[in-house]
Amino acid sequence: MTTRDYQALDRAHHLHPFTDFKALGEEGSRIIERAEGVYIYDSEGNRILDGMAGLWCVNLGYGRQELVEAASAQLTQLPYYNNFFKTTHPPAVKLAEKLVQLAPEHISHVFFTGSGSEANDTVLRMVRRYWALKGQPQKQWIIGRENGYHGSTLAGMSLGGMDAMHGQGGPCVPNIAHIRQPYWFGEGRDQSPEAFGRECAAALEAKILELGEENVGAFIAEPVQGAGGAIMPPESYWPAVKAVLAKYDILLVADEVICGFGRLGEWFGSVHYDLKPDLMPIAKGLSSGYLPIGGVLVGERVANTLIEEGGEFFHGFTYSGHPTCAAVALKNLELMEAEGVVERVRDDLGPYLAKRWSELAEHPLVGQARSLGLMGALELIDPATGERFDKALGAGNLCRDFCFDSGLVMRSVGDTMIMSPPLVISHAEIDELVSKARLALDATAARLARTPQPEETA
Ligand SMILES: *Cc1c(COP(=O)(O)O)cnc(C)c1O
Repeated sequence: MTTRDYQALDRAHHLHPFTDFKALGEEGSRIIERAEGVYIYDSEGNRILDGMAGLWCVNLGYGRQELVEAASAQLTQLPYYNNFFKTTHPPAVKLAEKLVQLAPEHISHVFFTGSGSEANDTVLRMVRRYWALKGQPQKQWIIGRENGYHGSTLAGMSLGGMDAMHGQGGPCVPNIAHIRQPYWFGEGRDQSPEAFGRECAAALEAKILELGEENVGAFIAEPVQGAGGAIMPPESYWPAVKAVLAKYDILLVADEVICGFGRLGEWFGSVHYDLKPDLMPIAKGLSSGYLPIGGVLVGERVANTLIEEGGEFFHGFTYSGHPTCAAVALKNLELMEAEGVVERVRDDLGPYLAKRWSELAEHPLVGQARSLGLMGALELIDPATGERFDKALGAGNLCRDFCFDSGLVMRSVGDTMIMSPPLVISHAEIDELVSKARLALDATAARLARTPQPEETA
């Protein structure tokens, strides 16, 4: 089959996630056929550096035979069995042990799911169940953040703060509130990052008092916002947030779906920021994306209550702890440990990327270049004004398309370019990523310089 054949069938029958179906149908999708290391290959033979590790998940890179063999062996031995009705199997048990060993001290248990969204549905159930068992069933409210991302199921999108999703999802799950995000470049540049970070934490306290401290059960946040635009909070933010939560006895949920498994140079983002969360939803890098699996890491406080006082917890999925997915996840974690992947991100690759990435800040189109571990962002600005471009120009999307043309996957969130490459990327490949990003910036700048302002085109 040719690219055109695939595109025609795709248009005829396939509704893609997060996609304008009609627009894609007119343009035609890019067909990815194979991958190796940090590169993906499309049906036209283009070799493209995957600067997003798929969707922030292919941490060990493509083509790892050990993961293929782990799946194959488990499919032969026991392809599927469930964890309901007092049964389990070796892969689920071993993966649970390994996760608790890698997680912060106070984490004692894991509840498995099939995805990050299901993990956050589980969080919602657990938080409300926990407070009911503690004799405080009115502690129903959960506070999330604007522009936070916690998945696309009804609970996931309700906990998240993506306006576009709320606009289409009908009434969200009740008793979820949102506060402002600690996005200094986007919303706080009139003050110092530290003052802005404290102001965002103060917004949490204000919301708790507005809802009534006796009514708030948990605060949910990503250690670093991923889908929202690779937003690292100011250093003052997390310590101030932790103090507020402790003051009012509110649970902390750190959504580790992206930050977990080495992305920020520690096994969990919560370790980098010293968060000690009560619950940690995980997915994505857990299996390097080779098979779908997620879960919730549960701290002793919540786990002990659910176990000792809860009776049956009426919640779970057919594929909770799926043996083949669990076997691949376990092998993935073992390989990461054996190869020192996380330490390498912290001590070598992260600092090297930070040095090369920061050079892009000198580009006239770039207002800020930031990175932490192997996650980074470029804020695009109009060189003429130093401010954002008019949204109608679609500068971010243009740049994203030019990235593809120069053989690099980066993603755009508005006019923020983001990247999150596999954790096994080499120095030479980081150099390639940065020079391709620079080419795309040049092409974007040249195109925008030739584009009439939106008023003139209208
Ligand atoms: C991707 C993501 C999710 C949702 O995970 P899915 O596996 O797509 O359901 C939840 N939280 C965060 C922080 C994510 O990045």
